[in-house]
Amino acid sequence: MIVVMKTGATEAQVVAVQKHVRELGFKDHRIHGEERNVVAVLGHVYPELVDELGVLDGVDTVVRISKPFKLASREVNPYDTVVKVGPLAIGNGTVIIMGGPCSVDSEENVMETARAVKAAGGHILRGGAFKPRSSPYAFRGHGEKGLHILAAARAETGLPIITEVMDARDVELVAGLADILQIGARNMQNFSLLDEVGRAGKPVMLKRGLSATIEEWLLAAEYILSHGNRDVILCERGIRTYETATRFTFDVNAIPLVKRLSHLPVIGDPSHATGKWYLVEPVGLAALAAGADGLQIEVHPNPDHALSDGAQSLTPANFAKLVQKARVLGAAMGRPVAPPIAELEAESRPARARKAS
Ligand code: PEP
Ligand code: MN
Repeated sequence: MIVVMKTGATEAQVVAVQKHVRELGFKDHRIHGEERNVVAVLGHVYPELVDELGVLDGVDTVVRISKPFKLASREVNPYDTVVKVGPLAIGNGTVIIMGGPCSVDSEENVMETARAVKAAGGHILRGGAFKPRSSPYAFRGHGEKGLHILAAARAETGLPIITEVMDARDVELVAGLADILQIGARNMQNFSLLDEVGRAGKPVMLKRGLSATIEEWLLAAEYILSHGNRDVILCERGIRTYETATRFTFDVNAIPLVKRLSHLPVIGDPSHATGKWYLVEPVGLAALAAGADGLQIEVHPNPDHALSDGAQSLTPANFAKLVQKARVLGAAMGRPVAPPIAELEAESRPARARKAS
């Protein structure tokens, strides 16, 4: 249920509504709109509550929410969520591009990839230090050492880093080093992990589960949001279908549908969806055309020697070509690729500091 305040309702009136909601035993969640404030009421609401809350000072209307997910829905929050990561804004109508290896291997390779991602105009460095692998005998990542390699690449290039956290016990460690926590497809419904990242105080990118419906995906996002973490990014990475010619099937429908149902930014991952490097560019561009707020792309300086997912990894040269095409497409659609990170950094510095530098 949401309580929509009147335009011009006072701060005291909004606070009084929130207090009343809590006194009735519900959780409250405030949304600061451009024109008016909204208070979401979370819990087992009952029909009479519409009238009980409707008579409070400053209240305009009380509306029951039809969707099972609340905080993730546009019904509760009609305004696009913009997730800030350093000078970057994800979901603000520009396109941002993440690139990097599937797994963090050597410091040398990660550095080379980070420099290439930056030179191509990419915005965020990705790389897995904790790797979810189907077989326990496959390379499962360098763990904490891998996080330090990513942090060193960030220190040199200025690119923020995104990396997967697989276990609730590692959230503190990963959140201490990463700029965005990634929840992998296989952990989309690991509810204790979702609870933990909801409390971590860092943006979270939630990948869609291999066989998850859109409703299950948004309910998983709801877990994170319900802890007060509003910086949630969704990522469509392909789903299981009967088709085996590609690794998964990229669900392009999901992008505009989720953007309609939810205010959260959506990223497309054509690398895991296709499993083949030569399908990554066309499917990535399709994701952008469908309205994605950005892409996550696997890049490796020597894909044949990558420790995981080499077959779907782009070379730096092919990554640069993809970014270039994304620029043309973004400009044509009025959703330009965001400027390079160094430019955004310079713009966000106060004028005085800019003059001095
Ligand atoms: C990844 O991004 O490294 C990854 C393992 O992806 P997913 O969870 O989508 O399979
Ligand atoms: Mn991978």
